[in-house]
Amino acid sequence: MACALTLRRDGHDVVVLDPQQPGEGASFGNAGIIANCTVDPLGMPGIVSRVPGMLLDPMGPLSIRWRYLPRIAPWLMQLVAASRPARVEAISCALAALLGNAVEIWADLVRGTQGEHYLTARGWIHGFETETAFAAMQPIIELRRRRGVRVEILGPHDLHDLEPAAAPIFRRVVYLPDTAFVTSPVRLVRALADTFVAAGGRFAQVRATGFGEAAPGLHQVTTEREAYPCDRAVIAAGVWSRPLAAMLGSRVPLDTERGYHVMLRTPEHPPRHPISSGERKFVIVPMLDGIRITGGVELAGLHAPANFTRIRRMVGHARRILPGLGRDIVSEWLGFRPSMPDSLPVIGRSPDRPWALFAFGHGHVGLTAAASTARVIADLVAERPPSIDLQPFRPDRFRF
Ligand SMILES: Cc1cc2nc3c(=O)[nH]c(=O)nc-3n(C[C@H](O)[C@H](O)[C@H](O)COP(=O)(O)OP(=O)(O)OC[C@H]3O[C@@H](n4cnc5c(N)ncnc54)[C@H](O)[C@@H]3O)c2cc1C
Repeated sequence: MACALTLRRDGHDVVVLDPQQPGEGASFGNAGIIANCTVDPLGMPGIVSRVPGMLLDPMGPLSIRWRYLPRIAPWLMQLVAASRPARVEAISCALAALLGNAVEIWADLVRGTQGEHYLTARGWIHGFETETAFAAMQPIIELRRRRGVRVEILGPHDLHDLEPAAAPIFRRVVYLPDTAFVTSPVRLVRALADTFVAAGGRFAQVRATGFGEAAPGLHQVTTEREAYPCDRAVIAAGVWSRPLAAMLGSRVPLDTERGYHVMLRTPEHPPRHPISSGERKFVIVPMLDGIRITGGVELAGLHAPANFTRIRRMVGHARRILPGLGRDIVSEWLGFRPSMPDSLPVIGRSPDRPWALFAFGHGHVGLTAAASTARVIADLVAERPPSIDLQPFRPDRFRF
């Protein structure tokens, strides 16, 4: 929807095809953080030695359905290859270029629309109960600082002033003052959609199934129902982009990191900021419809049934951080992060079909990067030079 609105505002005739209503994919249930600080890839150096411990810990941040291991093994190997220190530096530079101005670009995109009401320019707190967890975060803090991210280390007293709702259980606090968050990710996407339609864009609730080519390029996009005549196509279908890209000759190692959330009622004294647990790697976010707790990565593909056991366990821990929080879970959700093994999205022109533009694979930062990605896509469609180097985001950077 960010791409669609930006293109519409650039004067193009735009139709969005989606079998679901706007914002029903991964964008429905994310943590809502405009995480301009997340310049660290999932595969940090030393990941191989940390993974077994994470997998064995029932409260750990990573789980895998063993039956899915053969399917995801090549993706995991590519992730490990991308975790070499030199690659991590290069990846973090690319992420910093994409995410650095994310808050400002989002503010521009939603200015004067309903979406403006959901953007909250307030930082992100990471609390650590143990020195061990704090020490484990050091390489990430150093990497973020090398990329120009402001990271503040606070003492317990500073935390009380900043976030009185949090219990004094943290020995160390890392504060990221320049991030922002969204109090309703789905309403934000719907606001983009409403603005897009009000500006003359069209939305059709239908699945794209293929591309009809005729010299000199694209002639139509086919769907389960009628075909839509067009001369350019933007593939921004989250994890479901893989088969669409394959139809255009790009075989990309896109898989899903599944993620869960639970919603609880807003307590009498809600937190003002998102608060992450440095030990348990979940985040508590104050949203319009209650408190959202999200966290963890599950590698199990698109079809395995949901397993809410881990995320439900986080509620007890969240109550230690926010003692006013109730026990009752109001709703639960499973979503599919569209993830590339090097934590970089695919953004740019299809190598084989110059009329196709790719905008998918944003993994943990798809909300953060949506508005910036939309700007790049609009630049490419208008044949303006994009403001960032797109080499690191090429679809053909992996060889099978
Ligand atoms: C638990 C969790 C927490 C997260 N927290 C954050 C966060 O705090 N900050 C952040 O930046 N990111 C976060 N993310 C990641 C973020 O949500 C995703 O990266 C982002 O939502 C991806 O957006 P997308 O539009 O690419 O995909 P989606 O939101 O999944 O949308 C894809 C759309 O494509 C449609 N589609 C599928 N097939 C077709 C087809 N054939 N034709 C047409 N349309 C099709 C789908 O119906 C869907 O509407 C989180 C993700 C999860 C799961």
